Amino acid sequence: MQKLEQLYEGKAKKVFKTDDPELYIVDYKDDATAFNGLKKGSIEGKGVINNRMSNFLMTIMEKAGVPTHFVKELSDRETLVKKVTIVPLEVIVRNVAAGSFSKRFGVEEGTELKNPTLEFCLKNDDLGDPMIAESHITALGLATREELDNISRMTMKVNEVLKAYFAGIGIDLIDFKIEFGKTSDGQIILADEISPDTCRLWDSKTHQKLDKDRFRRDLGNVEDAYNEVFARLGL
Ligand code: ADP
Ligand code: UDP
Repeated sequence: MQKLEQLYEGKAKKVFKTDDPELYIVDYKDDATAFNGLKKGSIEGKGVINNRMSNFLMTIMEKAGVPTHFVKELSDRETLVKKVTIVPLEVIVRNVAAGSFSKRFGVEEGTELKNPTLEFCLKNDDLGDPMIAESHITALGLATREELDNISRMTMKVNEVLKAYFAGIGIDLIDFKIEFGKTSDGQIILADEISPDTCRLWDSKTHQKLDKDRFRRDLGNVEDAYNEVFARLGL
């Protein structure tokens, strides 16, 4: 597989073309940003951890019946993935109140929710990723009703499987963000990444934060937190 020109450099990853028109290579960086790029920094070794962890978790999702973009891990930081057109939505599930949910609704962080919540944000940095209703999504043609139902069903499955897996290694899955994309033959699959950059993960006993909130909120020991999750996954 030949790595060709860079198509895109995002906040956490670079995307490259390959000599196969249906495949891309993603390259994970150590760069970290928060608050829509306002806060910038670096988390040493994050790229390696997120690459390997995301691939591991995507493989678990495949086994659970959720199709993903994962094809093959090429190196510490590089992975071969199926090329998709990203559905411009951040799909967010919450099991416990935290972050913007706590702020918006005035609910204390750590409050257990009676059911998992599902919300959508428009993936648009210039607009600050605003929350978007399902009827807005279909009205704007970002996804059809059928695609949205499929995305919702797959997302709740991801939550069920991920929550149970993390529970088994003493970690509470508080919330997470995932992205979906459409392959050239129209199939909707799970894309992007699943990592401590995109999930809130708290130690089940101590409630210590083991995710990007340590960076966002200057809590210290950021690298240790990422390494801890990595180690508990047996990676
Ligand atoms: P951002 O764009 O938010 O700064 P990243 O730095 O993670 O995010 O950049 C990776 C980009 O690649 C994201 O825009 C993501 O939606 C996109 N992407 C992820 N997986 C795929 C894929 N399989 N095919 C095409 N694009 C993808
Ligand atoms: N999230 C993400 N990327 C974003 C926004 C949110 O990965 O651009 C994740 C975040 O890590 C958390 C979940 O989505 O696990 C819910 O985030 P929230 O809406 O509470 O936003 P935040 O507090 O991060 O601004």
